[in-house]
Amino acid sequence: MDSCIFCKIVRKDIPSEIVYESEKVIAFRDVAPVAPNHILVIPKEHVESLNDLDDEKRKKFLPEIFESIHELASKENVMEDGYRVVTNCGKDGGQTVGHLHFHLLGGREMQWPPG
Ligand code: IMP
Repeated sequence: MDSCIFCKIVRKDIPSEIVYESEKVIAFRDVAPVAPNHILVIPKEHVESLNDLDDEKRKKFLPEIFESIHELASKENVMEDGYRVVTNCGKDGGQTVGHLHFHLLGGREMQWPPG
């Protein structure tokens, strides 16, 4: 998708600090981190949100997304103290970028409930 900021990152049209990349999935550091470790994991193919993951796309992306989150949590050294994985969906979910992404947040104690 031409105008999507995350598609631009996938195409390397804009710079980002990529920490994981495969044929289908890419992960990069959030430009405005809200925790010491803040990584976004996304499918390279443009999918708006969790709402748009049909059965085919679920099977195609989700296993690798969660495998990479596991790998990244280990690499970032947050496994022992813990971390949070979040996907914001739609307006009430607080989604601001319309390309499915999973936040991996760690390095500090999180609060619950979220705001
Ligand atoms: P959302 O609010 O769940 O949609 O999260 C979008 C996230 O994308 C926010 O945490 C932003 O800081 C992050 N973000 C927006 N633009 C960029 C960028 O160009 N590079 C890296 N992260 C970005």
